[in-house]
Amino acid sequence: MKKIALVTGSSRGIGKAIALRLALDGHRVVINYYNKGANEESDRNRQEAQEVLTQMKSLGGDGIIIGADVSDSQAAQSLIDKTVEEYGQLDFLINNAGINQDQLLIRISDNDWNRIIQTDLNAAFYCCRAAVKHMIRKRFGRIINMSSIVGITGNAGQVHYSAAKAGVLGLTYSIAREYGNRGINANAVAPGYIQTDMTAKLNQEQVSKILSGVAVGRMGTPEDIAGVVSFLVSPQADYISGQVIRVDGGMAAM
Ligand code: NAP
Repeated sequence: MKKIALVTGSSRGIGKAIALRLALDGHRVVINYYNKGANEESDRNRQEAQEVLTQMKSLGGDGIIIGADVSDSQAAQSLIDKTVEEYGQLDFLINNAGINQDQLLIRISDNDWNRIIQTDLNAAFYCCRAAVKHMIRKRFGRIINMSSIVGITGNAGQVHYSAAKAGVLGLTYSIAREYGNRGINANAVAPGYIQTDMTAKLNQEQVSKILSGVAVGRMGTPEDIAGVVSFLVSPQADYISGQVIRVDGGMAAM
């Protein structure tokens, strides 16, 4: 049966791969792009989202586009409400939108800290809170929150990002406990180094250093993450909740 999936930040990168994969799996997908108000950046993001939808349709999938800044509480609420208005339900929420910034602790300004926490942690909270209200009524929901391997291990130069991604884990575990008896499962995915625009700024030396610690010897692809999300929302994963799945090529093997 077709389910309704919302993937935040799905105009590019990992979110795009997840949106396409879920559509290929036969679900209807809401593609969310970052709406920054009436400006050229928003137009570009909308255009990218349109390209994702076109690709989705060429693969036989179906979906719609909704722009929203998920770091804004009201915009996140309205994104979820519009999804439910359009489809009557929301089955899968994939909180993928995120930003990062490499900065030493002693150079992180209050603004830097707040910006990262707002987008990488608070946005997931806003979307989960709004979505769970609808999911409770249907007694069904699958929530996947995008954490990061650095939310588990920590990382020099990413104090704020790591803290936000660790917060995402607490959010996920607690939702799993609070709503498991209402048919809602919540899990997190912790990617390692994945080839997207977010990691494109790393220089060759940094990439070589990272790869030396990756057991499988390559960076991950957005599709590596999408495959795991596809599994986690599938009936095969009905008994998995409150977990974090590391998808890091053995980077943090313990
Ligand atoms: P990306 O290529 O930079 O894409 C991030 C997407 O999120 C973009 O579409 C971006 O929109 C969107 N976004 C950012 N802030 C938003 C907001 N406030 N509202 C709506 N959309 C917003 O990043 P990625 O590598 O695909 O990362 C996706 C997720 O995986 C993030 O949560 C990231 O932290 C996590 N992750 C990535 C890696 C990695 O190695 N790449 C590793 C661990 C975890 P714009 O186009 O406007 O920027």
